[in-house]
Amino acid sequence: MDRYRVKPGHKVRLDKHDPRDTRGWDGDKDEAKARFVALNARLEALQELLYAEGKHKVLIVLQAMDAAGKDSTIRRIFDGTNPQGVKVKSFKVPTEEERAHDYLWRVHPHTPGAGEIVIFNRSHYEDVLVVRVKGFAPKDRWSKRYEHIRAFEQLLADEGTTIIKIFLHISKDEQKERFEDRLEDPTKHWKFRRGDLEDRALWDDYMAAYEDALEKTSTKDAPWYVIPADRKWYRDWAITTLLVERLEALKMAFPPAEEGLEDVVVV
Ligand code: AMP
Ligand code: MG
Repeated sequence: MDRYRVKPGHKVRLDKHDPRDTRGWDGDKDEAKARFVALNARLEALQELLYAEGKHKVLIVLQAMDAAGKDSTIRRIFDGTNPQGVKVKSFKVPTEEERAHDYLWRVHPHTPGAGEIVIFNRSHYEDVLVVRVKGFAPKDRWSKRYEHIRAFEQLLADEGTTIIKIFLHISKDEQKERFEDRLEDPTKHWKFRRGDLEDRALWDDYMAAYEDALEKTSTKDAPWYVIPADRKWYRDWAITTLLVERLEALKMAFPPAEEGLEDVVVV
């Protein structure tokens, strides 16, 4: 999955990344789904190992435009993991108390502890995305944040956190279809807010803000991955592959057993 990693300091042109890309996968959709199930079991086993070993901390940051599949990615990829070791933290419009503090104040307490995987559904990146695009803070405020974010994530990495940042890249056309689907299906109405259309109208501004964020904050220890997300089956397969690769690289092992266990008899 290294092909989707944003190399530190490289300029990002999202229009050069195809949201319908399926590179690395030469089979068809059904095979991908089957392969996903097997890979997903591998991910579950790695998560169990991470939890048992109690050493590594893993932070997964998910960012995307509306309807790109943040929620379903979390649901589908982590459905078989142990809820004791996996936490999801969603970042919404800041509360009054959160707004009274600096923008990282609400983030740090939710970072993973040893043995944990934490998934951020949106994150501190909103403070250089929606805040920038909608003008919620002046430029001289948000433009300094890339540096804070790099330093904050470096702190986490230096203290032993593995950071994996994923941008789910969908096309504007695909978003239109998914919004229409949400409007048609009564069980999906709750997912739709009129405000989503305001963000859609600002699509190009969001892409520019994402390009800047990806370029300025993809570092060796906290890399961004731009994952093609128009095709859900490919998205799921690609993200699971990425996570399995990154977790396997941690070379984890179950903690050693107490000595003399072979002589223990359970009566
Ligand atoms: P959702 O993820 O669809 O439930 O929506 C959460 C909403 O909260 C999105 O519209 C985000 O842009 C918004 N949001 C998250 N963080 C911030 C922030 N720091 N400032 C302003 N809006 C935010
Ligand atoms: Mg939404």
